[in-house]
Amino acid sequence: MDDNKALTDFNSEIDVAFRTAWQSGKGGDENWSKLLNGYGAKALSDEEKGYLSESSMKIATGAYPIELRRVYESIIDKYRPAASSSPKLSEALNNFNLDVRVKEYYQKIKPFSGLGDIFKNAAAGTAKYSEGLQKEKQSTMKCKNCGAPRLDEMQYDACLFCGSKLFEKA
Ligand SMILES: [Zn+2]
Repeated sequence: MDDNKALTDFNSEIDVAFRTAWQSGKGGDENWSKLLNGYGAKALSDEEKGYLSESSMKIATGAYPIELRRVYESIIDKYRPAASSSPKLSEALNNFNLDVRVKEYYQKIKPFSGLGDIFKNAAAGTAKYSEGLQKEKQSTMKCKNCGAPRLDEMQYDACLFCGSKLFEKA
């Protein structure tokens, strides 16, 4: 494969994934599911989405960051073999920082101000919401990349919100 073409193709697939996630309705939509399935990337389960929607990690729109990360990972895997004959592509793959790229995406989809949501939820006084807060208070670890609390009762190695494996003491 031509050196420049491999790099251009890689960048354009990353770009399409980013825009499809960003333009998706909150928590994903049909277009996003199609793209996710096309790459064989794992979608969040309904239970996982339930936890996330109750957590302090609010999103205003778009697919969940961890799903975009999984698509990015699939794209990187897809282009890995071509990298041996393309130094430019190889460099792009090695410099692609998943934590940073997913966090950039999160900045685009998070609510302009988290306060609106907090007041709305507090006023509604839903048991679910305070239950969610309780869980977060009990959590002793949080994600170093996006700040999401790690839910102690759930078993997972990577942040449920952004997919980062870096945790630190809250
Ligand atoms: Zn995270």
